[in-house]
Amino acid sequence: MEQQTPKTKICYKCKEEINYGATKCPKCQSDLRSWFAKHKIITIILGFILFVSIITAISNETSNTNQMNSSNSSTQDIDKKFNYKARACAKNYIKTKLNSNNDPKFPGSYGIAQYLGNMTFKVDSSVDVKNAFGVYITSNYSCNVIVGDKENDFFDCVSECKTLD
Ligand SMILES: [Zn+2]
Repeated sequence: MEQQTPKTKICYKCKEEINYGATKCPKCQSDLRSWFAKHKIITIILGFILFVSIITAISNETSNTNQMNSSNSSTQDIDKKFNYKARACAKNYIKTKLNSNNDPKFPGSYGIAQYLGNMTFKVDSSVDVKNAFGVYITSNYSCNVIVGDKENDFFDCVSECKTLD
């Protein structure tokens, strides 16, 4: 298929057929250039505003994404780093509250800890305690543990625990 460039066009003002490349009508002297060609400075300013707003939009999106990623990863990092400490803190706390005659055993080991944010974990586990008759009774407990930032210090924390049954 051969595409042909037109040789003539019609002047929008006087409807005269004129040379296709003409920027000025030879008959009525109308300026036939496009609006943008006639208003170069405004075109440049508009183009610049458009460019700046696109760049701003892109950089805002990038920084939002970065912020989201960094807050997500730091929450996960804290959970990963202090999860074991929170469970150990809860276990220590329960131990200190019990009499050594109770010979506490922890069948669920350290239990499970869910990170709630603000260095606070919810720890759920259970303890078997020997009663006066020498019979072990299982109690479930739930603790809110606020951990300090010393990763391997299992006493650097505050625990508030309650038995569930
Ligand atoms: Zn004309």
